[in-house]
Amino acid sequence: MSFFKKAKPFIIAGPCSAETREQVMTTAQALSAISVNLFRAGVWKPRTRPGSFEGNGEQALQWLAEAKATYNIPISVEVAEPAHIDLALKYGADVFWIGARTTVNPFQVQHLADALKGVNIPVMVKNPVNADVDLWQGAIERFEVSGTREVAAIHRGFSGYTSAVGYRNQPNWPIPIELKRRRPELTLICDPSHITGNRNRIAEIAQKALDMHFDGLMIETHPDPDNAWTDAAQQVTPAALKLILQSLIVREEFTDDMSGLVQLEYLRQLMDSLDAEIIDLIGKRMELSEKMGIIKRECNLTAYQPGRWREIVDTRAERAALHQLPKDFIVEVYEKIHHESIRRQLAVLEQNNKVLKGDE
Ligand code: PEP
Ligand code: MN
Repeated sequence: MSFFKKAKPFIIAGPCSAETREQVMTTAQALSAISVNLFRAGVWKPRTRPGSFEGNGEQALQWLAEAKATYNIPISVEVAEPAHIDLALKYGADVFWIGARTTVNPFQVQHLADALKGVNIPVMVKNPVNADVDLWQGAIERFEVSGTREVAAIHRGFSGYTSAVGYRNQPNWPIPIELKRRRPELTLICDPSHITGNRNRIAEIAQKALDMHFDGLMIETHPDPDNAWTDAAQQVTPAALKLILQSLIVREEFTDDMSGLVQLEYLRQLMDSLDAEIIDLIGKRMELSEKMGIIKRECNLTAYQPGRWREIVDTRAERAALHQLPKDFIVEVYEKIHHESIRRQLAVLEQNNKVLKGDE
């Protein structure tokens, strides 16, 4: 059976970094007693600035090997260089993960994929720090092409300039959802620790991930989180992890309950016909837009008119408020529609430019 399908949800836990032998052993003992499927601990830490703790390297691998032998729990580490792979394999690592700062670099990912040829141990690929679904998918494919049969994706959020909305890394849920749409069979794991950066919000994001059909969770766990050497604010104790796991509601995609299915099917049919109407209306809106393009061409007006766009934003947001639709959401939808509308009008103006310049 596939490694990641052994449990639903598949739970990965352990400290951000392996700090001391005692810390590794204490955590592994506690986690092996609750339903944790894979132990994690960073032994090489990619730090933002020099001079920070960068991991205990080979010595930490010895502690992990000891924890695995003593508590019978599989172990995973982050690898960022082919030399890391060789060393971690020597100490019996069961799974590797690729960090967000490595996934961004196709050359480095390829070196790692090459180093794993013929090894075939499961690899978990964190999303790149930037919100680029193709880059994430590409990194996953590099391991698959090299022969890694079990590849999982870890959603750990995306860097942004501001953390004003309360996340350390923005979740940008449509990105992992799009990855899962493209690759439905791929195991998708959420890392609420790195998304929130805040231990008080881990349960909330973990539940949200399960409700979005994620297959597993990676949660940083430390015996004394406040004094952790890395990522202190986001780690939880094994006891807190146990409570989080107990609180999670695991929902299904399918059910045998016919009454629920019948109601769902009815609502889906209503939704299908609404969507058909929405698309027909957008089509009609685009036809109007092209007619307006012809008038703008005749009257020598610009396709984009900032005043009109401001008016659209204000009036559509007002209308959306009648249905409790958030302003940001409706503006985003209209940005897409308006963009397509302007693209069509520019094409209309372009015909005129060609005539004036005698291109055709
Ligand atoms: C980690 O898992 O501790 C880590 C460094 O994660 P990321 O690559 O998501 O920053
Ligand atoms: Mn961390």
